[in-house]
Amino acid sequence: MSPPKNKPVAAHATNFIRNIIEQDLAKGTHALRTWGGKPGPAKAHAGAAPDPARIRTRFPPEPNGYLHFGHAKSICLNFGLARDYGGVCHMRFDDTNPEKEDQEYVDSILDAVRWLGYDWTANGNEHLYYASDYFDFMYEAAEYLINTGLAYVDEQSAEEMRANRGTLTEPGTASPHRSRSVEENLQLFREMRDGKHAEGSMVLRAKIDMASPNINLRDPAIYRIKKATHHRAGDKWCIYPMYTYAHPIEDGLEEISHSICTLEFEDQRPFYDWLLDQLVNGGLLAPPRPRQYEFARLNLTYVVLSKRKLIQLVEGKHVDGWDDPRMPTLAGARRRGYTPEGFRLLAERIGVSKSDSWIDFSQLEDCMRESLNETALRRVAVLDPLKLVVDNYPYGQEEECHAPNHPQKHELGKRAAPFSRELWIEREDFMEKPSTGYFRLFPGNRVRLRYGFVIECTGHEKDGAGNVTAVHCNYFSDSKSGTPGSDTYKVKGNIHWVSARHACKTEVRLYDRLFKEPHPGSGNRDYIQDLNPESRRVIHAYLEPALSDAKPEECFQFERHGYFVADRADSKPGAPVFNRAVTLRDSWNK
Ligand code: ATP
Ligand code: MG
Repeated sequence: MSPPKNKPVAAHATNFIRNIIEQDLAKGTHALRTWGGKPGPAKAHAGAAPDPARIRTRFPPEPNGYLHFGHAKSICLNFGLARDYGGVCHMRFDDTNPEKEDQEYVDSILDAVRWLGYDWTANGNEHLYYASDYFDFMYEAAEYLINTGLAYVDEQSAEEMRANRGTLTEPGTASPHRSRSVEENLQLFREMRDGKHAEGSMVLRAKIDMASPNINLRDPAIYRIKKATHHRAGDKWCIYPMYTYAHPIEDGLEEISHSICTLEFEDQRPFYDWLLDQLVNGGLLAPPRPRQYEFARLNLTYVVLSKRKLIQLVEGKHVDGWDDPRMPTLAGARRRGYTPEGFRLLAERIGVSKSDSWIDFSQLEDCMRESLNETALRRVAVLDPLKLVVDNYPYGQEEECHAPNHPQKHELGKRAAPFSRELWIEREDFMEKPSTGYFRLFPGNRVRLRYGFVIECTGHEKDGAGNVTAVHCNYFSDSKSGTPGSDTYKVKGNIHWVSARHACKTEVRLYDRLFKEPHPGSGNRDYIQDLNPESRRVIHAYLEPALSDAKPEECFQFERHGYFVADRADSKPGAPVFNRAVTLRDSWNK
């Protein structure tokens, strides 16, 4: 096994899938598998060496959109299980539906999985697969089903098929084409493949049981005609397998031991099992066959997690593209300054269960804060600036103050912050008439300029409208932080500042939640109406000079304000633009 790319972020809470895997490993359920070195039918694995992977899982997105936060749960689960149990997780594109798929999505998905800290190389082999590479086998398997009397070509219209499917309480009605001969079915299916029939004129259906209590077993369609160009297979095919037919075959060819999917596929499991049993018993696929296990999808408040809705947000220009920092996509998260560690922490915390529930968005934010707190260097930024003039500090003079890069990690050292006669402070750090309990600047009061000097407020200026435009003070030259005797000054307030002459003025985007409602679109509203109009506020802030050479994607804690990342798209060398990832504490509802 190649060494794990990342360590588990916390002790694992066990879950039902881990229990199943541990039982399988104890029983040796998969111990006898052989692996031919790449996915393939039974004959490709027969006689090969024992599978070096103790389990095989897969992450199988359809390349029809960008990955969202929900996919992160599935990625952490599948890749994490393979890592923890000496297995391999396959990265597989479930690209069986030509119309909506695109290379752009393939690229972004691979990027996102790598960004989360996972990869699909094991034992020197890349386990990156495309379902479209299995089209030949899927076709052969369909002919096999026809030959064994388990599939037929149906020419009913879509409406007829729907009407004849029956209901939960009534059995379905057999199609008039259900009893065609094997020869006739084979001929028609080949004609379908050869483009001799129109789209929608016929489908291939599995022949199972029109009276089954599970409607999915009432002769599901397995192949349809689609005269579409596939993003990888080109125009080779004009028939394409249905998802429910393709997916078990993909798992079978890849010898997936534990095929983990979301709960909505539970009703499909009997067909999954039926199909794999036919193909394993027929000698087409190697035993033991894969098993499907379902878990609850991630539902998060204040966002939507469905590719269809995310596409609407992009196409309707409600956001600036898939990687808009407000989007619940992994590409958006990356620009926002969220971290892979934060997502892995969330996946651990929320666990894996069999029943649907909602996770509050603040849980995700807490995980991001925890992860960023570890790594982000501390910096000072004044977001709402007010001028402070140190009247007794000589014109033209400057000196350095020193501030720790991380309060808990002294090994990360200090950086120099220049001090001079004119500074920027936060507007909220001065009050002309202080309210009770206000310890910051007001006329006559003393505070410490954090990591710098103690000052005493001597006055302020106002414009015609009564707005404070500047504050004046004197400093005590023997009060500099870190110098002997400086602690003899006892002050209650401690405020942030940056030197006006040295400050780096830059654009800062203050992002907030994309939706203002916890359940966008609930109560029959259009979810678009629940968009938060204040999800982005753009300001110009004064940053300490150490921030001016921040590299794209570097994250910092702006003291007291939150965690910010240098935008990976819009920052220029020497001129970073910052995005707020998350505030320091959950300020929502406060
Ligand atoms: P959507 O429903 O948003 O369109 P999808 O299920 O169609 O997503 P796929 O590309 O088919 O997206 O998904 C790839 C894998 O990610 C699947 O195994 C799927 O079960 C899983 N997945 C998708 N959404 C979630 C979610 N919200 N929580 C956990 N896993 C998810
Ligand atoms: Mg889907």
